[in-house]
Amino acid sequence: MPQLEIVRTVADLRAQVAQYRRSGASVGLVPTMGALHDGHLTLARSAKLDNARVIATIFVNPKQFSPTEDLARYPRDEAADIALLRDVGVDLLFAPDVGEMYPEGFSTSVAVGGLTQYLDGVSRPNFFAGVATVVTKLLLQAMPDRAYFGEKDFQQLQVVRRMVRDLNIPVAIIAVPTIREADGLAMSSRNRYLSPAQRKMASALPQIMHDTVTELRAGGLAAPIIAAAKGRLHKAGFDRVDYLELCDEATLHPVPAARGPSRLFVAAYVGATRLIDNWPVV
Ligand code: AMP
Repeated sequence: MPQLEIVRTVADLRAQVAQYRRSGASVGLVPTMGALHDGHLTLARSAKLDNARVIATIFVNPKQFSPTEDLARYPRDEAADIALLRDVGVDLLFAPDVGEMYPEGFSTSVAVGGLTQYLDGVSRPNFFAGVATVVTKLLLQAMPDRAYFGEKDFQQLQVVRRMVRDLNIPVAIIAVPTIREADGLAMSSRNRYLSPAQRKMASALPQIMHDTVTELRAGGLAAPIIAAAKGRLHKAGFDRVDYLELCDEATLHPVPAARGPSRLFVAAYVGATRLIDNWPVV
């Protein structure tokens, strides 16, 4: 069984990374909120291929949840997560508590403009400041050569890329394609919230995304195609659609038709569970 070290303080993390550096090892970082699934593990496997040492982090970041969101019930299963990370051959787990990351008096926030005006930036107003702040901290704490993010959270990936360029953080951001269940549903820790009936209903999401992307690829106006797709989502049992939008891949600005590199983005609720996904169109 490979060794998995577990540290809970920034000082211990830095001491371990310093040891890796002394031995000349390259370091990959995989930030997560735990409740790990094969999407997370694919990030860790990619990191293993590129780096001599891999660090995973598990931290359910309170700053990226609004008071009405699911922070208190967000799934946590550290023992299972540790076993999975060990199997993949991750070298180090950094799992700090909230006090370690945000000690008394913590007052700094990293705000990324532009990209955050759209999509989740609208439906979750504090979300990206929370993500940008915690990712900046994790990158500065571990100082990895590479950090791995999933395309499942495509807007988050673009925000992190922008932030790392803007702040000259010396790390390569590596994107990993979305890992899906057999029916096409994007893997997510939040899928654990779904009852069997809701899980069945959720499989309409990838189906409708697939059909909508196919229609958008023909190049017609997005508005009527998207309106029809929203109707299908409601009919399939999705209670609320935060957004279903065609956006420019680089700027995330909504576009009227798929003329240049663009993606279809969705956020929709099955019961109280918010599912997000995105698919490339052009
Ligand atoms: P989370 O624990 O949800 O914050 O996710 C941690 C990292 O795993 C983020 O970079 C996510 O984009 C990535 N991730 C989550 N689900 C998937 C998935 N189904 N496929 C690929 N990456 C994923």
